Amino acid sequence: MLVRKYSLRLYRPKCNVDTEKLNAFGLVSVDLSPVIPYLNAVIRGGVYSSLVPSLTFYHEGHMMTVQARQIGAAACADEAEARRLLDWLVELINDTWHRRDQIQPRYEEVPPLKPLEVYKLLPATNCRQCGEPTCLSFATKLVAGQRTAADCTPLWAEDRYREKAQALTEELMRRGYEVPAA
Ligand code: SF4
Repeated sequence: MLVRKYSLRLYRPKCNVDTEKLNAFGLVSVDLSPVIPYLNAVIRGGVYSSLVPSLTFYHEGHMMTVQARQIGAAACADEAEARRLLDWLVELINDTWHRRDQIQPRYEEVPPLKPLEVYKLLPATNCRQCGEPTCLSFATKLVAGQRTAADCTPLWAEDRYREKAQALTEELMRRGYEVPAA
């Protein structure tokens, strides 16, 4: 077992004082660097950086991070949710480490998706069928893991958007986002 416990730190993001959400960090006493390339193989399309080293990905709409000495979960409703998410992450880390002989570590670094890149692959009609006021707003939430691509109905229903839908599917899959079933 690589991680036996972590020390929880909670804070409210200073960049958004209006939010009720908490960011959570779990400080650990072991070096997690060796497991990160294995996690990058297990988690489809997480954003991996060898420089820090770190891995960032989305789980249940929360941005999760693994760094050498800490793990993190963003936008938690309260301490209970923070602990549930970090406990899940610890289990994933330990299971991945336990199975590392069967996993090919992955060192590929995929740059994070930007809202404007997603926007260019949406219909850009601001039709509001997804419930968002604009396509850019939808793109921003999709990148943050708060919406899924399937929520943009016209993109998948109309033939004229087929190429955009395919390109978006590829970009999302590279980074481990959920994509609509073919
Ligand atoms: S449903 Fe799609 S096209 Fe319509 S506003 Fe939402 S993202 Fe834009």
